[in-house]
Amino acid sequence: MRLLHPAIMAFGFPLFLAACGALAPDNAAKPAQSAASVDRIYAINCGENHAKDLSAWTTPADSGKPHVFSNNCYLIKHRADWLLWDSGNPDRIAAMPGGLRNPRGTSIAFMKKPLVDSLREIGVAPADIRYFAMSHSHGDHSGNANLFAASTIYMQSAEYDAVFGSEPQKYNFMPANFEKLRDAKIVKLNGDHDVFGDGSVLIKPTPGHTPGHQSLLVRLPKAGPVLLSGDAVHLKSNWDNKRVPSINYNADQSTRSMDAMDSLIKATGAKLWINHDFEQSAAIPKSPAFIE
Ligand SMILES: [Zn+2]
Repeated sequence: MRLLHPAIMAFGFPLFLAACGALAPDNAAKPAQSAASVDRIYAINCGENHAKDLSAWTTPADSGKPHVFSNNCYLIKHRADWLLWDSGNPDRIAAMPGGLRNPRGTSIAFMKKPLVDSLREIGVAPADIRYFAMSHSHGDHSGNANLFAASTIYMQSAEYDAVFGSEPQKYNFMPANFEKLRDAKIVKLNGDHDVFGDGSVLIKPTPGHTPGHQSLLVRLPKAGPVLLSGDAVHLKSNWDNKRVPSINYNADQSTRSMDAMDSLIKATGAKLWINHDFEQSAAIPKSPAFIE
């Protein structure tokens, strides 16, 4: 068994199952936090991606090795508001038992359960999502973005320009995933953004995988801060070696973003949740369970 980085291993979070109503009766004093916390986070299974050749993400030594990447969406409750981070593989893939091969033929996307069904289990409809943001605009993160055209959407300006510019395919973006967002309320960011204005959720720019990639720092009331990686890092082994995948848009930016994430983790004590790391993702409870 591989040893996990302490920041990843130290889950230790209280877990409650919404389905069985086992909510915490504990109103005891909470640990002091310098910033406010959200109420809870749901990690939602938003598909799997089966790659033919892992080496595109790692090193030539992995040439020809198949690999399964996990893929999650994250739903965050803050008082009366909901924030959705990433939208996963397209829901329509749930009706394709053999999955859907990507245009480059490098991987097959699967979706066991549509995102709308997972949200419904939590008691949330797309129209309830007040805030929506994606780590970046690749198909496995933007697959259901059109469902959230009525939300306030946060996107880095560099990503916006790549998505809605003249050459979205150059960045491996799929214009159909954004066709309903052209007239949406998109707030263009040029750096950090404090979503709720109380420090509980911070969008952090982490460019390199795509021009305007971003990651999310979420402060949980009991588990403490977590940093949602997006694709700034795909695998635990890449993080440990600060390895930049050959598929990334800009290698220097990628390295600088990982350095910034490292500094943020050291400053906040955040645990790093690496979205596509199958092994780590399997250890995080999935919705309708949630983490406080
Ligand atoms: Zn990506």
